[in-house]
Amino acid sequence: MSHVFYRNPYKKYPVVARGKGVYLYDRQGKRYLDGCGGAVVSAIGHHVPEVVEAIKAQLDSVEFAHTSQFTNDPQEELAELLAERAPGGLDFTYFVSGGSEAVESALKMARAYWVQMGRPEKWMVIGREQSYHGNTLGALAVGGNLWRRAIYEPMLYPRPRVAPCYCYRCPFGRHPESCSLECADDLERAIQEVGPEKVSAFIAEPIVGATAGALTPPAGYFQRIREICDRHDVLFIADEVMTGLGRTGAWFAMKHWGVVPDLMCLAKGLAAGYVPVGATMVHHRINDTFHNRRNVFQHGHTYMGHPLAAAAGVAVIRYMSEHKLVDRSRKLGKYLREQLQAACGDHPHVGEIRGRGLFVGMEFVKDRESRTPFEPETGFHNLVGDAAFELGLILYPTGGTIDGRRGDHVLIAPPFIITRSQIDRLVEILGRALERATKQVAGRG
Ligand code: PMP
Repeated sequence: MSHVFYRNPYKKYPVVARGKGVYLYDRQGKRYLDGCGGAVVSAIGHHVPEVVEAIKAQLDSVEFAHTSQFTNDPQEELAELLAERAPGGLDFTYFVSGGSEAVESALKMARAYWVQMGRPEKWMVIGREQSYHGNTLGALAVGGNLWRRAIYEPMLYPRPRVAPCYCYRCPFGRHPESCSLECADDLERAIQEVGPEKVSAFIAEPIVGATAGALTPPAGYFQRIREICDRHDVLFIADEVMTGLGRTGAWFAMKHWGVVPDLMCLAKGLAAGYVPVGATMVHHRINDTFHNRRNVFQHGHTYMGHPLAAAAGVAVIRYMSEHKLVDRSRKLGKYLREQLQAACGDHPHVGEIRGRGLFVGMEFVKDRESRTPFEPETGFHNLVGDAAFELGLILYPTGGTIDGRRGDHVLIAPPFIITRSQIDRLVEILGRALERATKQVAGRG
């Protein structure tokens, strides 16, 4: 009997034995093509010797020293590498151990900033529907992933949520030709409703991951969001936990639109799964406020700035830069989307294939013409994910929310080192998995 408290006690998990490149192997020797980097984590593939060596070397000097007592070389270097690559002005980095911690830190830093600016009434953070920012209570409260929130609802402080930019199911009934960015203006409405004097920040994923299958915003969306935030003295937090570090074909997704957030959350690709790590990047305006007023940011976690995590992060960024992997993510992402479109684009249950770089989402529908979703109990995304897993391909079935119901998507986000022929194989297996799932659903009548 296992003593592990599993995420899903009814599921049989194979034991992972080793990884190499884009593949994971279980104890029985079965090989899996990692088509999603786990949960959009493994950006450079498994067992990259340079990264493994860098972590070992750090272990040989010092494994841990608390950040209230010491800084350490790898965290200094990682902060510098990030500042060189981030949107201009995001010059400082606050290190933590994962995405939820990065978001919690950003929410509290925004609040602490306004307190220092003499505006202590500003505390509320506005988020969007169909969003996910983490499972800790603060992060869950600003997110709009209804099924992840459901049983914790009484524990989550209430605050407004605004419309997502979900062009495939536009909440304002618009089409690309008639779009005038009502979804962005919805933020203005919400700020006015609660009163700008109460709002400290707005948080959004640049391209929505876990709740909506790589939802990309319409042109001009984040520029409009930036204007609205500036007009009302509201900080803009970009949650780049999934999209950061090259995943969308730029070092950070906000760079696609030339928009500089005030705070930017990172995790996943930062150390690409080699060691848990997260970070909140901070605009120098905010950092200066703390510095000039000699104020301590009242927050912190034991493992922040952990030397092993930072050493892994440094090695990962160096590896990505040396091998031009961000560029590769952009180019191969385009190839992946083209191949998926050609192979599955006309499938009766494929509603839309979308995304940017090697961050691709596929939305499933019961009926393609009317875009009618499957009944939530069908769990089509899980049927596809399970069939693919059996066939040796790992996908990330996300099943977020559509119009308040559980949605149907898979994320496809392989390591950037994937080759064209491995992409062809991925697409071929995905196609077979889709057929199996379709037969299963048809068989149920
Ligand atoms: N923000 C986003 C955009 C995420 O996708 C996730 C994780 N899927 C998180 C935050 C939370 O990160 P973690 O699971 O590392 O706490």
